[in-house]
Amino acid sequence: MRKKFIAGNWKMFTNTAVARDLAAAVVRGLGSEERVDVAVCPPFPYLHSVAEALRGGRVALGAQNLYPEKEGAFTGEVSPAMLLDCGCRYVILGHSERRHVLGETDAFINRKVKSALAAGLEVILCIGELLAEREAEHTEQVLQRQLAGGLADLTGADLGRVVLAYEPVWAIGTGKVATPEQAQDAHAFVRRWIGGKFGEEAANRLPIQYGGSVKPDNAASLLGLPDVDGALVGGASLKADMFLGIVRAGL
Ligand code: PEP
Repeated sequence: MRKKFIAGNWKMFTNTAVARDLAAAVVRGLGSEERVDVAVCPPFPYLHSVAEALRGGRVALGAQNLYPEKEGAFTGEVSPAMLLDCGCRYVILGHSERRHVLGETDAFINRKVKSALAAGLEVILCIGELLAEREAEHTEQVLQRQLAGGLADLTGADLGRVVLAYEPVWAIGTGKVATPEQAQDAHAFVRRWIGGKFGEEAANRLPIQYGGSVKPDNAASLLGLPDVDGALVGGASLKADMFLGIVRAGL
C-alpha cells in the first residue's frame, strides 16, 4: 500500500508573516496524524521562517526550484546544498510554469533532478500535457517524452527518492479539474511506463500525485483512485483550512 502524500506549492505568494502563520496552522491542524505525508513548498526567501514554524511537527519542507550546480558564479540561483541547509527535504522540479513560462527543457530538468538526488534531496517531478496536446490525443506521447527526458540516467535506487506529479497544464490554476477517468488513465499509463523502464516493483512503490485545481470538495474522488497517491496543490494550499481539508480527504 502506498502512503498518500499531499504537498502544497505556494508558488510566488505569501510574505514572511503569512508564510509563518500558514505553516504553523498546517502543523496545528494536522496534529500527530501519520496516515498521510504532508509537505509545504514556500518561496526561497521564506524557507528559513517556515522551517522554524514546522519544527517538531510532521510537515516536511520543500523548495520550488534549484540550479543544478554545487556552487559558483550563477548570480541569483540557489544550489541543492543551500536547500538542504535551509531544512528542505523535497524540491519541486519540472513544474509547468517553469517549462512553459520560463522555457525549461527536459534536458535541463534532468540535470536538476540528478543534481538534487546527488545532494540528498527528494524530487517531486511534474509532468503533464497542454490542452492542445490532449485535444490532439498526444497526452501519452508527451508524458512519455517528459518521463524519458526527466528521468534519463537514473537508477532504480534513484527512483526511490522521486515522486511524480501528473499535472495536466489545462487544469492548473484554472478550476478545471481532470475527471477521475482522465486522471486514472494518465496515472496508470505513467506507472506502466515506469514498470517498463525500472521494473514492476519500482513502479508499484512509486508515489504519483495528481495536481490541477485540487480542492477539498473534489479531493476524495481523485485520492480514491487506484493509481493516485496524493496531490500537489497550488491555490488551495494557501489557505490552511482548504489544504487541511484536502489532507483529510486522503486519510
Ligand atoms: C500547482 O501549482 O502545481 C497546481 C496544481 O496549482 P492549482 O492547484 O492552483 O491548480
